[in-house]
Amino acid sequence: MTDTHITERGMTPAQHEAPRPSGSSVELPEDRPTKPAMLRGFRRRCPNCGEGHMFQGYLKVVDRCPVCREELHHHRADDGPAYLTILIVGHLLAPLIHVGFTRFRPEPLVMATVFTVLAVAMSLYLLPRLKGLVVGIQWSRRMHGFGKAH
Ligand SMILES: [Zn+2]
Repeated sequence: MTDTHITERGMTPAQHEAPRPSGSSVELPEDRPTKPAMLRGFRRRCPNCGEGHMFQGYLKVVDRCPVCREELHHHRADDGPAYLTILIVGHLLAPLIHVGFTRFRPEPLVMATVFTVLAVAMSLYLLPRLKGLVVGIQWSRRMHGFGKAH
């Protein structure tokens, strides 16, 4: 209850103003546009140079880009790519299952086989690409450790 009171009383007007940098000698980090970084990530390339491979193997992100040496181990993609993969594959296949069933009435085993193969193939295709995209966003927004000078 008294927390807000203390905070209000503790703040002087000077503390509300952000420190103003004087002159043009302020070092700003270089710009990292998000969209190209996302596209490079989707192509499974380094978000910084677009040349080096982001992955070693299927989903393991390399510690550093083999071409430009940009550090990529800071990423925290976690289960975001899996979530996006399920979201996209589900929204594409659910209407297809409906149309496929109402239009063609295939044998249940045929339908199950076709859509299982489709779902697995689409998921395997999208998962590393969406992981690259998520890593690209995190890199461009300097999330997690990506913003630190190295
Ligand atoms: Zn690179």
